[in-house]
Amino acid sequence: MASSSEPLPGTSDLWEPEVGDWVALEAAARRVFGAYGYGELRTPIFERTDVFVRSIGDETEVVQKEMYTFEDRGGRSLTLRPEGTAGVIRAVANSGLNQGDEKRVFYMGPMFRGERPAAGRRRQFHQIGVEAVGPRDPVIDAECIAMFVQFLDEIGVTGSRVMLNTRGLGEDRAQVNAALRAFFAPRAAEMCEDCQRRLDTNVLRMLDCKNEACQAIVVDAPKMIDLVCDESRAFFASVCSSLDQLGVDYELAPRLVRGLDYYIHTVFEVTHSGLGAQDALAGGGRYLIVPPGANKPVDGVGFATGMERLLMARQSLGLAQTARPEADVYVVSLGETSVAPGLALAQEIRRSDLGLRVRAETSGRSMKAQMRTANRLGARLVLIQGESELAAGEVVCKNMASSEQVSVPRAGALAWLRTNA
Ligand code: AMP
Repeated sequence: MASSSEPLPGTSDLWEPEVGDWVALEAAARRVFGAYGYGELRTPIFERTDVFVRSIGDETEVVQKEMYTFEDRGGRSLTLRPEGTAGVIRAVANSGLNQGDEKRVFYMGPMFRGERPAAGRRRQFHQIGVEAVGPRDPVIDAECIAMFVQFLDEIGVTGSRVMLNTRGLGEDRAQVNAALRAFFAPRAAEMCEDCQRRLDTNVLRMLDCKNEACQAIVVDAPKMIDLVCDESRAFFASVCSSLDQLGVDYELAPRLVRGLDYYIHTVFEVTHSGLGAQDALAGGGRYLIVPPGANKPVDGVGFATGMERLLMARQSLGLAQTARPEADVYVVSLGETSVAPGLALAQEIRRSDLGLRVRAETSGRSMKAQMRTANRLGARLVLIQGESELAAGEVVCKNMASSEQVSVPRAGALAWLRTNA
């Protein structure tokens, strides 16, 4: 049995040096998305349940099986956010969006889904996502995909594939559903139980069933592009030509529909071979969502990428962060009266522009015990002050790698660190 100090399955504690990788990813996202005029938005981690159910759709895997839903003391049903788009749309609607305005936002943070944990599949995972809310314009879809491709370039993730398809408009649904039902009905007996139910409730969902037997049938299903109306076809052609103009490589994925109900027109997924079975690095598309309390739907386009998956892709390319020592410098203080001057010296280094991580002795232990601590922390540089050094206004400086040791005037300690760091 798992010990009670272990994190729950599908969740994890995040330590250095991996935290450094996460911070670098977040910084790259802020830089790239900022360059396209997207601003950061932080929405609550939990929302009223209907915020998600209404926009994601009640026949979806996420809503049916994966949401962490609970009642608060007032008996309201609340849910830990399983994805970012629904909350962003609620927030944008709440802040007011005028006709014709475009609001560009990005977000990053934890999402929660009660899935069966596996490599690359977590119950608490972290997404970075963007939404361009407002105009329904195919050029924005293409620019959004191009932006993600640039982001991947900047974080060194090469070898990804952009898979692209259309879901058509809401008005196409009846025709699409009828054609898919006609195709699947005679084959339903060979498909999984979920798909047999979906045949009546939400036939589109049958296209992205992960079951192997179902997949074997899905490969021959009609292509979305052949089922949608002329307007949808023209919109998709325009997305493709904009991507061509922006120099983005993509592949057509005629049966990609993505799991959530709110999509219209463009859907895309980015995959990476370094990820194994869960090979999706990002997914997104154009959507139409009625915000809570509103009666008119809002248009938008966006994507979300999994931070754990981005880091796995980087790792598969040999780009993971190497371990960093806990401290670069250790200040040894010999004798109780030298502890306070030692701490003062440490403060001076921390306030300087050297950017070094400094730990200092706090209790005046033996030289041997302090050097052991310096080694355990991985400190490359050690500064030593005993009572005689204090009296003489000097510091003994030791470079642990070369074992070189010199005595310098107290005022020269920072200069010595600068040349040895
Ligand atoms: P989705 O909204 O399901 O398409 O998710 C978008 C991206 O988030 C996926 O492409 C993955 O990179 C990531 N993701 C989704 N679910 C999980 C999960 N359970 N664990 C880790 N990453 C996930």
